[in-house]
Amino acid sequence: MFSSTMHTIQNYINGALVEAVDKKYLDNIDPATGKIYSYLPDSDAQDVQLAVEAATAAFPEWSAMKVEKRSFILMRIADLIDRDLEALALAESTDQGKPVKLAASVDIPRASANMRFFAMGIEHFASEAHLTGHEAINYTSRTPIGVVGCISPWNLPLYLFTWKIAPALAAGCTVIAKPSELTPMTAFLFSKLCMEAGLPKGVLNIVHGLGPKVGQAIVEHTNIPAISFTGGTVTGKRIAATAAPMFKKLSLELGGKNPNIIFADCDFEQALSTSIHSSFSNQGEICLCGSRMFVERSLYDRFVAEFVKRTQALTIGDPLEEKTRIGAVNSEAHMRKILSYIDLAKQEGGTILCGGKQVTVPGRCAEGYFIEPTIIAGLSYDCRTNQEEIFGPVVTITPFDTEEEVLLYANSTLYGLSATLWTENLKRAHRMAAQLKSGIVWVNCWLFRDLRTPFGGMKQSGVGREGGWEALRFFTEAKNVCIKL
Ligand code: NDP
Repeated sequence: MFSSTMHTIQNYINGALVEAVDKKYLDNIDPATGKIYSYLPDSDAQDVQLAVEAATAAFPEWSAMKVEKRSFILMRIADLIDRDLEALALAESTDQGKPVKLAASVDIPRASANMRFFAMGIEHFASEAHLTGHEAINYTSRTPIGVVGCISPWNLPLYLFTWKIAPALAAGCTVIAKPSELTPMTAFLFSKLCMEAGLPKGVLNIVHGLGPKVGQAIVEHTNIPAISFTGGTVTGKRIAATAAPMFKKLSLELGGKNPNIIFADCDFEQALSTSIHSSFSNQGEICLCGSRMFVERSLYDRFVAEFVKRTQALTIGDPLEEKTRIGAVNSEAHMRKILSYIDLAKQEGGTILCGGKQVTVPGRCAEGYFIEPTIIAGLSYDCRTNQEEIFGPVVTITPFDTEEEVLLYANSTLYGLSATLWTENLKRAHRMAAQLKSGIVWVNCWLFRDLRTPFGGMKQSGVGREGGWEALRFFTEAKNVCIKL
């Protein structure tokens, strides 16, 4: 199904794998080697138009299909993802640079879980009814909204791609989806699985290519009434500016600059080992990574010493090797951006406690994009390094004395995606959770997800909640019917 030999990716439109209308291609680079390993369609508005026509034609039948049948097809896709787990993990790792072990244990299982969760969820989805005294019955009728646009980023490619399209398809919408141009391979393999599972033609259409061309054409299209987007805050603003005057429904999952707050009364070992994951998993390229660590002063020296030691022990290397913990960052441009932030941190007076440099991995990865996991101390909470999203294996670490002080630091950015708290004091945990301006607060854990819960950021980390019933509701149009008794 997938090997490291050269591939040509195709669009998936109206149930078939096709070239872009203009027959142009873009290079797809393996970030671990710095070499082109496949080509993807350089699509544009013409391809989006064909996809919209196919999705519009497919909508009446798909939206009217018995829920059990829709659910069955989505379940079948989930089963096929599980069957092809190893091949998909290899593709995800080659596209994105992440350790294949991580792709096989997190990304791909979570992609099939997304499909399965919403396939089951739609069978239990209900709308509300209200008896208004003895005078009337009001009920809410929810119908699929139509052809929707789903646009996803490169950091967790198949996981986030399915996170968007699964609720849309389950709700009865037909979809135009665009994966990131930097990580198109798993979406391409996914289109083959949809064909094998018997997804009717035109229900899901995947158009590959550049954000400003394909993404923009999806957002601008007059026959697409809803857009579900995950990506950077700057892109989210652009999408909102285009979609708002068209009165489109918008769900925006955007960037983060998440605090990881460690009180002296924490379970030291748990806080330490999980903080290694929450700081450096996927090279820090997870929107939910804790990039600003705040440690209570009485624990600070002990914690920092051990945290630096364990960070230095992380194996940086070929993502395809079992022992690798830190793979390649996603692109050369992204590597340059991360390194420029490390320079900025030095200019702002920061001390590099470990890491800070590009790494050459010998052998087949000699030209790849690798950066040492980096810990920076001595910065003020309001400097640029502590305010802007870096999205790489870089964390800052800062001591604090009181809850009020750490709340000020934690809530000081424009973002509000997630926060992590480490304390064994239950009252403090509730107190802090209530005051942290984040869409999700993890207490004594990280990245633990129950898909029934609404997920989304506060402030400039996004608008609209995804996950659970919220996601299914997003893809429907609600109408109130009032019957006078
Ligand atoms: P981008 O915003 O650059 O891209 C996201 C997607 O949007 C890509 O498919 C991109 O295409 C596309 N796009 C770019 N320009 C436009 C446009 N004008 N109109 C429509 N679509 C467009 O984000 P990244 O891919 O760099 O992803 C990293 C970001 O995503 C980080 O900020 C991270 O925090 C955030 N993120 C948020 C999550 C959340 O749940 N809140 C989860 C994961 C990541 P192309 O790649 O071709 O440019």
